[in-house]
Amino acid sequence: NLKIPAVMHIDSKACHAAADAAASKLETRLFIDGAYVDAADGDRFTVINPATGAPVAEMHAGNEKDIDRAVAAALKAFKSGVWSKMEPRTRMEVLYRFADLVEANTHELAVLDTLAMGKPISDMLETDVPAVAQCIRFMAECIDKIDGRVTNTAADVMHFVIREPYGVVGAISPWNYPMLMAAWQFAPALAAGNSVVLNPAEEAPLSCIRLAELFVEAGGPAGVFNVVNGIGEVAGQALARHNDVAKISFTGSTEVGKLMLVYAGQSNMKRVSLECGGKSPQIFMADLGDLDAAVEAAIGGIFSNMGEVCSASSRLLVDRKIHDDFIAKFRASGEAAFTPGDPLDPDTTMGPLVTKQAQSRVLTYIDKGKKEGATLAFGGAVPPGLESGAFVSPTLFTDVANTMTIAREEIFGPVASVIPFDGVEEALAIANDTIYVLGAGVWTRDLDTAMRMVKGLESGRVWVNTYDAGDMTQPFGGVKQSGNAKDNCMDSVKSYLQEKSAWIQLSDD
Ligand code: NAD
Repeated sequence: NLKIPAVMHIDSKACHAAADAAASKLETRLFIDGAYVDAADGDRFTVINPATGAPVAEMHAGNEKDIDRAVAAALKAFKSGVWSKMEPRTRMEVLYRFADLVEANTHELAVLDTLAMGKPISDMLETDVPAVAQCIRFMAECIDKIDGRVTNTAADVMHFVIREPYGVVGAISPWNYPMLMAAWQFAPALAAGNSVVLNPAEEAPLSCIRLAELFVEAGGPAGVFNVVNGIGEVAGQALARHNDVAKISFTGSTEVGKLMLVYAGQSNMKRVSLECGGKSPQIFMADLGDLDAAVEAAIGGIFSNMGEVCSASSRLLVDRKIHDDFIAKFRASGEAAFTPGDPLDPDTTMGPLVTKQAQSRVLTYIDKGKKEGATLAFGGAVPPGLESGAFVSPTLFTDVANTMTIAREEIFGPVASVIPFDGVEEALAIANDTIYVLGAGVWTRDLDTAMRMVKGLESGRVWVNTYDAGDMTQPFGGVKQSGNAKDNCMDSVKSYLQEKSAWIQLSDD
């Protein structure tokens, strides 16, 4: 029993005990056709706890044969209609029970991801797991709210458009919010009546297999939700190239996202939805009013989740008129706001990066920043005493030009860059000078400036006087090379449905 007391009362000892209990009975196999199964060829991969460097589990590594098996099970379930033709209300009830079970297993699910990718346990308990349950419930609610349409045609014609599920949806998810990013894919896909084969990122493979098991426990039919862990280049690629997969939903880097388009083109022209990288700007105008609130948003926007957030505001564009005050405040509170430490301690706000490789990638970017002439204001190193993990201190660069590598490439770590500007036009030019953009923030008390920014920013979302706020009703997705998908909101369920039109000639008599 992994139950530990409610969030408000947990302590580090209880979290470590829950993690030890979870680790002692880890499920390492694949989840196919409603049951745990061994990987076909006996391949394995090791999950390393990035906070300690210690191995956590030897996971079964699925390959092409396992993907074949999972897709076959998913297709069979789809064609049988056991889920795809289930009464909408009944499908909703299954998903509601699924969400309840996620909540009932909060603590176990939370420690699984903390062990694998180092996210602070309090973030898992307060944000990730509740958000997964919320996402499943929201998508369930959409099921009987989505309808087709009847168009205005001649009197002797009846024309209508209906929406139907695609069939088998393949989902490839990242490790930064292991269950939540997967839920943004599988929940709308399932709500729409598809069957799903999910290949989670190999860095965080412990939790999604449990989610698939909970779906079945909730009454979800076998074969509808399958999870095949494995190396992306092997299992993910086999999934994205599979001819019986009708749509692939990918969340991850822009580089791998582009491969999805290639795989689709080289196989069956499956539909491809992409949620990829970012280099989001947050713009601080001279008239922003509450500098404390703005600086707090700047700090949270880049240091939360160790900076491993696709919409992290890694570029802080600051009007020269408030530049020095802004930096003074950021320096005063930014360094201490997120202190790296044991992610299983509920007081820890910053865990390690996901792997030692990620740590060295981020440290290389920090070196480049210094070499290219930016000023390191604080951080930039491995925090003392935490050398065995993949930790990097919260880092602030000032005097950054938008042409520098640290301003152009996605670092995916706790590294903020302050870029000065003069006035709205220059801010917009710098903000839009990127191949990405998922989100953008602007801080101003002036309505005209706010509206010019909202209209002028090339971004999937714009926040005004806040950052990273939103709920399930707000579409989440990027423009340019950040992708083409829209997660959350009713549109995401619609994106897992294809339209069919029926033109019916009526007789005269
Ligand atoms: P990644 O691209 O390395 O991996 C993403 C997924 O693709 C993983 O499951 C991986 O196993 C798989 N994969 C890797 N190579 C593959 C291949 N050749 N064929 C098929 N699958 C393959 O990304 P990551 O490191 O897991 O995640 C970080 C990235 O994800 C960042 O760029 C981040 O911005 C992005 N991200 C975007 C969003 C969004 O909503 N736009 C959300 C979270 C993360």
